[in-house]
Amino acid sequence: MSKEYSLVWDLDSIYSGGSSSTELQTALKENKQELDQFVQNVKDWQIPENTDDASTFLILINQNADVARVLLTASSYLECLASADVMDERALELAALVYQHQSILKTAEDEWYEKFAQISDRVWKEILQQNGFEQIAFVLNEARTNRKKKGTKEVEKTINALSVDGYRGWSDHYDTIVSKVRVKVEIDGEIKDLSAGQALNMLNHPKREVRQAVFKAYSNSWQENGRLFADTLNHLAGFRLATYEMRNWENVLAEPLSINRMEQGTLDAMWNVIREHKSTFVSFLNRKAKLLGIPKLSFYDVEAPLVFQGESKKYSFQEGAEFIIQQFRKFSPKMAHFAEHAFQNRWIEAEDRDNKRPGGFCTDFPVAKESRIFMTYDGAPGTVATLAHELGHAFHSYVIRDEPFENTDYAMNVAETASTFAEMIIADASVKEARTKEEKITLLEDKIGRSIAFFMNIH
Ligand SMILES: [Zn+2]
Repeated sequence: MSKEYSLVWDLDSIYSGGSSSTELQTALKENKQELDQFVQNVKDWQIPENTDDASTFLILINQNADVARVLLTASSYLECLASADVMDERALELAALVYQHQSILKTAEDEWYEKFAQISDRVWKEILQQNGFEQIAFVLNEARTNRKKKGTKEVEKTINALSVDGYRGWSDHYDTIVSKVRVKVEIDGEIKDLSAGQALNMLNHPKREVRQAVFKAYSNSWQENGRLFADTLNHLAGFRLATYEMRNWENVLAEPLSINRMEQGTLDAMWNVIREHKSTFVSFLNRKAKLLGIPKLSFYDVEAPLVFQGESKKYSFQEGAEFIIQQFRKFSPKMAHFAEHAFQNRWIEAEDRDNKRPGGFCTDFPVAKESRIFMTYDGAPGTVATLAHELGHAFHSYVIRDEPFENTDYAMNVAETASTFAEMIIADASVKEARTKEEKITLLEDKIGRSIAFFMNIH
């Protein structure tokens, strides 16, 4: 028997002391000096005219990676703190400071990439064949090509400077309003005062009248702040559209496609396949309504569990962890070993308590080459699969940890491939382990429900 795994993560090994960490303060201060130096070096950098100029180029590449690595580590750390305790205002203040530094870095990078674009094609090609460049040629080429599509130096500088308040500020504002949303609802004769995340989780309550009551109270709470949310969304979208106009971009999908390294044709093909096959899911949803004994599913029934006799199977955190390790091992011992390491070293925040943000994520600390997972674990087979999903993200980061820093940045479409794969290993294994027909139906329902989220909700 292995030792009990903790439901609370360890962040002190990254920076000790939470949002009042002096270690973090020092790291940020030192990094700011390095950042200022990078800004100056970019300004002074002469456009290379032959491969002899490659050495100063390489110095800039290393400096850029060093600065970005620390900023990413700090912002991950602060995101973790703010997610685990929505009352941690100091974490939000520091996150805003880190974002400011990231914005300065982005402006300098932009100026730097603009110089890439001025290097002649011949010299550029020769430089990329040099040692130190070859390994990251894809990323450098991408930066150069994308920069050619953007605005002038002045335009990009203005956009980056305004994004601190005009974009990031509105996103923080949204989080602030959400953290203040409370849902008061009577469940089994008891008045409960729930956070938005807790209320959302209640939509998988087995009793329909509870789901209905929660949903009504939940909708009312959001409605009360309706104007605030509408304004926030409009300002976020407005900032983006104004940015695109300044760059003369007409297609609103151009940027997301480029970030995902994807062509419009690929996206269209994917959506078409989904559109053509939605009827499969409709028959599943109709069947689910029948099993629940209702004529038609309402929004608050979609996540409802199918309960046959007695309680559905619950996994303690320890059981869930051991199940994941055991099932991963059947696919890859390396993956199982990694998951075990994550549990043992407290990389996971899973406790069910108040004042946590809803949802789940996995985030990376590139300086320490470690990850952390945030979620709320309730013991249903669904949360075990969610935990496996996040471990899939962490495993992906682990596998590429020794790549040059520039090569470790990937977009959501790639990220979700690793995580969905890990999630499906667990979902399939749960179905296989089912002891009764009823249990099997329950687990299949959960598994297909995940596809509904991907193919219907997101679309
Ligand atoms: Zn994911």
